[in-house]
Amino acid sequence: MSWRVGTVTAARAETASARTLHLVVPGWPGHLAGQHVDIRLTADDGYTATRSYSIASAPSGHELEITVDELPDGEVSPYLVREVRPGDKLELRGPIGGWFVWRPSSPEPVQLVAGGSGLVPLMAMVRTHAREHSAVPMRLLVSAREPDALIYRDELAAMADDAAVEVTYAWTRRTPDAWPAPPARIDAELVSKSTWPVADAPTSFVCGPTGFVETAAALLTDAGHDPRRVRTERFGPTGGPR
Ligand SMILES: Cc1cc2nc3c(=O)[nH]c(=O)nc-3n(C[C@H](O)[C@H](O)[C@H](O)COP(=O)(O)OP(=O)(O)OC[C@H]3O[C@@H](n4cnc5c(N)ncnc54)[C@H](O)[C@@H]3O)c2cc1C
Repeated sequence: MSWRVGTVTAARAETASARTLHLVVPGWPGHLAGQHVDIRLTADDGYTATRSYSIASAPSGHELEITVDELPDGEVSPYLVREVRPGDKLELRGPIGGWFVWRPSSPEPVQLVAGGSGLVPLMAMVRTHAREHSAVPMRLLVSAREPDALIYRDELAAMADDAAVEVTYAWTRRTPDAWPAPPARIDAELVSKSTWPVADAPTSFVCGPTGFVETAAALLTDAGHDPRRVRTERFGPTGGPR
């Protein structure tokens, strides 16, 4: 797969540590919701660093968005979050991934489970669902540290009005004011209350830090979901939602 050069045409902050970059990529073949790109940075001395970033946007010609959450000691993410400016060029290749994708033509109910920045590829599915005016039932269970750490917070809140996608939040460190429950990680009770019943045979997409994905996927299969219908994407090595 060849490397292409995209131009950053806009950048917007999502949280104190996460930023969305809008890219225009000549020759981009298009993508499916759930796929990712590899981004390659090259230093003046020729040293390169390559990292994967999920595509956040619904398919849209030769444009795409990524959302990067900064790891303070990271090699690549601080540059993408703090340094890159509109007009800058980035080398990327993709789209990558054929399993962790949602096609609007799939009739099964969809269960999305996100931890932290694992929301990014699932948001591409939510946005594709909205753009296609899909009648496929879709639910999202999203775990974040606290309201200020939730990417796409306003967009998700706005979706509550039209209820096309049902969203349930799990706050792990601090809840919004007047929230009915204390902070907690997702557990069997929340999964059983907020996700599609096994009898509905949903396809589930689980994404986030490795430990989160393992926990959430195990909760779904322990609840009786067919493991072949639980698709997972692991972003990295840490345990719980960041
Ligand atoms: C398929 C795929 C899709 C991804 N999509 C996104 C995305 O949409 N948005 C996004 O922000 N990131 C995403 N990631 C993670 C991303 O590829 C990088 O791993 C992340 O940005 C850290 O890179 P870095 O160079 O800043 O840190 P590094 O220099 O690689 O690592 C710094 C330190 O952080 C640890 N670390 C590395 N990655 C993670 C992680 N994900 N979580 C916790 N600790 C980590 C390392 O072990 C190391 O100790 C994705 C990863 C994969 C595999």
